[in-house]
Amino acid sequence: MRKERLVVVGNGMAGCRAVAEVLKRDPGRYEVTIFGAEPRVNYDRIMLSPVLAGRNPSPTS
Ligand SMILES: Cc1cc2nc3c(=O)[nH]c(=O)nc-3n(C[C@H](O)[C@H](O)[C@H](O)COP(=O)(O)OP(=O)(O)OC[C@H]3O[C@@H](n4cnc5c(N)ncnc54)[C@H](O)[C@@H]3O)c2cc1C
Repeated sequence: MRKERLVVVGNGMAGCRAVAEVLKRDPGRYEVTIFGAEPRVNYDRIMLSPVLAGRNPSPTS
């Protein structure tokens, strides 16, 4: 059976978290396409400040 297409505009944390949840709930249903405006893959902006400050980026620190 042909999959439905799920298109997300914005390769940020909210969009990718939503995609992860959709895939968890119904793994085979969608063919997913994500458009991003930035020339790099998704990254965790929340960890940017500690990483740039040279602190351990581990979530447990
Ligand atoms: C340095 C820094 C430190 C932070 N620290 C914390 C913290 O400690 N705790 C906390 O809770 N929050 C923190 N934040 C905020 C947190 O990162 C944001 O709240 C979160 O990233 C929002 O996620 P989002 O997916 O809604 O938006 P974004 O992460 O901004 O993602 C949106 C994406 O959509 C893309 N986009 C937008 N328009 C288009 C378009 N028309 N076409 C294609 N792509 C498009 C953008 O390029 C971007 O990649 C921090 C942010 C920064 C910058």
